[in-house]
Amino acid sequence: MLAVCLFLLGSKMQFLSNLDLRSFKRSIAKVPYQCVSSDVFPGVDLWVRRDDLLDPLISGNKGYKLIFNLLEARRQNTKTLITCGGAWSNHIHATAAAGQRFGFRTVGIIRGEAESYLSATLQDARRMGMQLHFVSRAAYRERHRSDFPRFAGLDVTNSCYIPEGGANLAGARGVGLLGAMIQQTQPIKFAECWVACGTGLTLGALGATLGQTLKVVGVSVLKDRGSVERSANFWRSELDGGESGIDVRTDYHCGGYARYPVYLDQFRHSFQCQTGIPLDPIYTAKLAYALQQNAIEGGGASCRRRKVLMLHTGGLQGVRGDQ
Ligand SMILES: *Cc1c(COP(=O)(O)O)cnc(C)c1O
Repeated sequence: MLAVCLFLLGSKMQFLSNLDLRSFKRSIAKVPYQCVSSDVFPGVDLWVRRDDLLDPLISGNKGYKLIFNLLEARRQNTKTLITCGGAWSNHIHATAAAGQRFGFRTVGIIRGEAESYLSATLQDARRMGMQLHFVSRAAYRERHRSDFPRFAGLDVTNSCYIPEGGANLAGARGVGLLGAMIQQTQPIKFAECWVACGTGLTLGALGATLGQTLKVVGVSVLKDRGSVERSANFWRSELDGGESGIDVRTDYHCGGYARYPVYLDQFRHSFQCQTGIPLDPIYTAKLAYALQQNAIEGGGASCRRRKVLMLHTGGLQGVRGDQ
């Protein structure tokens, strides 16, 4: 425990302070890998890449999905970033922070009927300058249209639209930087890399960049009948990734998206106590739980220890949603 505390003190909090690719690459090169030696994961040498520490506000995989979107907006002298999401969206939070940091106006199209109750995420977003534009759930279903902002009644002059969750080609290319950085900085040669999946874009982009050299495994956090795998394969081929298999585990959604049963809460707290690594209830808790179940089922059966990298994709701002 002491070692963990010293580690956290030793790793200086960093911020993405400049909007250019070289600074971004320098920042992601500094993201620490943390070794988790615990008998909770039998037969596994588990390391966690702490992309939750990339930036306190533009955190985790949402930072990677945003970088090329932001650079392109800057290049085109775009004034306003428009995006959309739900009340606890990590992407809304990161986009609002990026707009404030780098000088863009931001507008968030928010799913929901009324403005009467603002989640902590939306309160933050508004405080960081994001204009919140509420639409009904029915209207929100049109979010995949490329003219969604106009459809939602917004003025789109000098703006760009970043789709929900940052899921566009620029987003996938950004996650590709993560894959390349893992190749360059992995502290041991990993055999597997595990990541939590919502849309599956992050998994697909990692499959494209890492899939030739190690096994990339995605844990779906929602009840999924193949949509994560389809989307992951789509983004992998958009990035010209090879034919390596993308492996999606669908048995660890723990009841469905944002469902958070007591056993998962207990697991999350004991993981945090043992490792000093905070997890979010929506994504990374389910990922770590899946890894634990998988390790126990494997039972250390083979005498070779598996070298596994777990990606911490952030999401910690959402922890407040569950307390
Ligand atoms: C959005 C998010 C994911 C899922 O990313 P996808 O590319 O949609 O699969 C995973 N973890 C965290 C913390 C996220 O915020």
